[in-house]
Amino acid sequence: KAKESGRNQYRYFQSGMSEQLSQQLCMERGLRNAIELQQLSIQYQPKVCLQSGMIESVEALLRWEHPQIGEISPEVFIPLAERSGQIGMLGDWVLENAIRQCVEWHKAGLPELSIAVNVSPAQLIRGRFAQTLARLLEQYNLAGQFLLLELTESVFLEAGQELRQSLSVIQGLGVRLAIDDFGTGYSNLAYLKKFQVSQLKIDRSFVTNLMDSVENQAIVTAIVQMARSLGLTTIAEGIEDKQTADFLGQLGCDKGQGYHWSRPLEAAQMPGFLLADTPLLKATAI
Ligand code: C2E
Ligand code: MG
Ligand code: MG
Ligand code: MG
Repeated sequence: KAKESGRNQYRYFQSGMSEQLSQQLCMERGLRNAIELQQLSIQYQPKVCLQSGMIESVEALLRWEHPQIGEISPEVFIPLAERSGQIGMLGDWVLENAIRQCVEWHKAGLPELSIAVNVSPAQLIRGRFAQTLARLLEQYNLAGQFLLLELTESVFLEAGQELRQSLSVIQGLGVRLAIDDFGTGYSNLAYLKKFQVSQLKIDRSFVTNLMDSVENQAIVTAIVQMARSLGLTTIAEGIEDKQTADFLGQLGCDKGQGYHWSRPLEAAQMPGFLLADTPLLKATAI
């Protein structure tokens, strides 16, 4: 009897595994054709200056609509693309489309808007990244100052010669670097000075319930103070209410991002959103 139930358990386990595996394979195969089949898109979320309320930049966030599975979160398919070697292809697509979009907005009456693009460690470590970036900026005639790359701390764990060279080419183009999800990873902070990072992005996990957690308030306060003394700007992600926005503004945090102002929007909605409320906008009118 024990043997029997053991067998059943094993079978159950196996079918659970294979279901998960086949879903993974389905996604991996699907990702290969997602660009061609036009299943990918980018949404943009405003970054708001906490003192003035102005919006000078927006973050590009990749979206994938799978015909069978539906909308798949980037938290699922980005790690998959990293493991299956497809992140280079996806990353290039995001970079090109975000740059093209930024140029379009400049022409449409938002001449000072900049874009932030997320870059995976695996993508950056590939030798061609910096060259691809240089070529795209030239091709679309966009100055590097309008682009900020959001990297995670893990990039700096294996900061070898190649990465150093790549980052120095990138910064030579005038492109700035931000550390995304700051506070969740690596704790040796020497890299902040060594690589001339411009912005620290305080992780959502410290921000979303900030008003209910004195621990998170202490962490966020320490990050903002440290960033200020190093001459870096700070932005808090995941702000969902006015109280949190006000609290962070009083602390001296420079910018905020979150549902309090806006969810990520379709590109076509952005000029309307920015132009609807003039104090939000740092741009010359259309
Ligand atoms: P991230 O770069 O830290 O982006 C912030 C995430 O928080 C986004 O999720 C955004 O939609 C969400 N968010 C913004 N405001 C709020 C808020 O007020 N409350 C809550 N609960 N969430 C908020 P999303 O778009 O699902 O992206 C998840 C992650 O996927 C990103 O985290 C980033 O690490 C990755 N990702 C997205 N697009 C790309 C891409 O083009 N390339 C790479 N390499 N990674 C990407
Ligand atoms: Mg980001
Ligand atoms: Mg983040
Ligand atoms: Mg994140």
